[in-house]
Amino acid sequence: MPFDLVEPSSLGEAFKLLDPDDPAVRPLAGGTALMLLMKSGFFRPKRLVSLRAAGDRLARVRVEPDGALRIGAMVRLAALERAPELRRRCPVIGHTLRTLSNVRVRNVATLGGHLAHADPHSDLPPVLIALDARLVLAGPRGERTVPVDGFATGLYETQCKGDELIVEAIVPPAGGKRAAYVKCTTRSADDWPALGVAVAWDDTGGIVKSPRIVLGAATEKPTRLAMAESVIAGHGLDDALFARAGAVAAEEAEVVGDARGSVAYKKQLVKVFVGRALRAAQARGGAPA
Ligand SMILES: Cc1cc2nc3c(=O)[nH]c(=O)nc-3n(C[C@H](O)[C@H](O)[C@H](O)COP(=O)(O)OP(=O)(O)OC[C@H]3O[C@@H](n4cnc5c(N)ncnc54)[C@H](O)[C@@H]3O)c2cc1C
Repeated sequence: MPFDLVEPSSLGEAFKLLDPDDPAVRPLAGGTALMLLMKSGFFRPKRLVSLRAAGDRLARVRVEPDGALRIGAMVRLAALERAPELRRRCPVIGHTLRTLSNVRVRNVATLGGHLAHADPHSDLPPVLIALDARLVLAGPRGERTVPVDGFATGLYETQCKGDELIVEAIVPPAGGKRAAYVKCTTRSADDWPALGVAVAWDDTGGIVKSPRIVLGAATEKPTRLAMAESVIAGHGLDDALFARAGAVAAEEAEVVGDARGSVAYKKQLVKVFVGRALRAAQARGGAPA
């Protein structure tokens, strides 16, 4: 089936070309997810709106005066991985990206496409949730900012309306945060994860403050584990607490099975990998997240 491919030169033009009432009209970023859907016949577009030339704002990584990072939606994952601002201020994102698929995919895929696609197995959303990141969404009615936590509303579903675009992600200054992401792949090392766990907390004299424990790939959408978080909040971490947090996380998580593991297997992974993620973040010492 023929379709139109259009390349607006501004966000304003892009909004006019999108159609909130027609799911066959979609924005196009790197195309790594969309092309697979099209090849399999699952998605038949009427119009693809390429964001490649829609403005500098989408293509930049900037540091705000308060130290927050603003990352444009069209920044490619490989460029983000190498961005000096990110390496200095938030290395956990770079560490995560180096484990995400392979460099051929990362050279083409973009941050906005990664988040908008909302595959529950995606590696970055748990990390961005753990860091309290937000997204700037823009559309013909203006802009709004939403937390990454809750942006995915279900399997491949998000809060983004049909005529809205992700424009930027904002990652707050990491300060003295400790953070880590660990994942388990059951096929090759660069395969989609069977489970991913991101953790972050403010370290005040060895005591855990404002912890985040976020699970991906084993749940229908990236999910914070509040009970496991409360196990470590206000404590100094040791091996017993790593194990306790893992056990509580496995009980709390509403795990779903898939081709990479049954519910029982993934529960066991949660139990083990939550402890590993906490230990990895603890081992990073005073280095920024
Ligand atoms: C072989 C392969 C292996 C992969 N392995 C992994 C893996 O291990 N871990 C992992 O996390 N990911 C993995 N991925 C997924 C990859 O991260 C996504 O395909 C990619 O991030 C999508 O980005 P894109 O820029 O190509 O998006 P596109 O394919 O262009 O778009 C994806 C979706 O987002 C929409 N969209 C794009 N940009 C915006 C925007 N700014 N605002 C609103 N909507 C938008 C599109 O309309 C479409 O619905 C893999 C992909 C491939 C092809």
